[in-house]
Amino acid sequence: MAEPSLAIHGGAGTLPLTGMDPAMADAHHTALRAALAAGWKVLSKSGSALDAVTVAVMTLEDDDLFNAARGAVFNADGKLEMDAGIMSGRDRAAGAVAGICGPRNPILAARAVMEHSETVLLAGRGAEEFLAAQDIEFQSFDYFCTERRVVALNQELARRASGAPDTRSDADRHGTVGAVARDAAGNLAAGTSTGGFTAKRPGRVGDTPIIGAGTFADNATCAVSTTGTGEIFIRFTAASEISARIRYASQTLEQAASGVIAELFSNGGDGGLIAIGRAGPPSLPFNSSGMYRGFVLSDGVFRTAIHREAYRIFDSRE
Ligand code: ASP
Repeated sequence: MAEPSLAIHGGAGTLPLTGMDPAMADAHHTALRAALAAGWKVLSKSGSALDAVTVAVMTLEDDDLFNAARGAVFNADGKLEMDAGIMSGRDRAAGAVAGICGPRNPILAARAVMEHSETVLLAGRGAEEFLAAQDIEFQSFDYFCTERRVVALNQELARRASGAPDTRSDADRHGTVGAVARDAAGNLAAGTSTGGFTAKRPGRVGDTPIIGAGTFADNATCAVSTTGTGEIFIRFTAASEISARIRYASQTLEQAASGVIAELFSNGGDGGLIAIGRAGPPSLPFNSSGMYRGFVLSDGVFRTAIHREAYRIFDSRE
């Protein structure tokens, strides 16, 4: 038997500490808590890590505060291209989708690829055809669109046209949601979902759906979900690098996760990740100004944070 635990993130695209008013901070803490509650409901009833990760990510996708599904950022053509990936550490089964718009929850699309196709990563017309035949909910373009992201796109396109320097906050540029879990049977799982970067090049795919870069799980080592400058996370195979350091260099989860985040930073990679191992608490390192994040251990206490402040604590059993 293992001690169940769950960690989540709402991306490294946070508002700066000075630009976040208390109401906005409260809204994010409430949203993070809701995602922890959804996942913990599964884990505390001996459900699977895979199901816990799925519902936690769905909860964050449904909330337009975060850059995934509803509230996703637009590409340079004003279109939505979403990426998502999921992996089971028990059998290293994995599924991912890239550049899609339609399924209400891209994480369910990734899971459908994992469970009902012979492929790992689906993109483009083939993905659309496959997903249309799956038992998942679709939504119109309008459902995903939010005023805030329209403004962010228009400002960025105007800035590029004028040649002015990029002074946007991380929150206007990018973001992602993700979850990692360990269930009572000792199985690990990871899931990640994103709209990518505001005004990204059409067709650009980030690290999120790349197994081993933005999403990875192996029961022998850890489960990882990342957020940040995807190109660097891909080039350094960030998520599987953590697993490799545990497996081959006998590092602890914390050493491996923090070491990779430090290495990414020295190579121009901003962001963070959440990781969970075979035992013990999760690791949630980041090198950005903040990372919306939270975790719960077997004590059932929800802890959430945004910047480097102390975690807010909420006892789910009260
Ligand atoms: N990693 C995501 C991407 O590159 C963005 C983010 O997490 O902020 O698409």
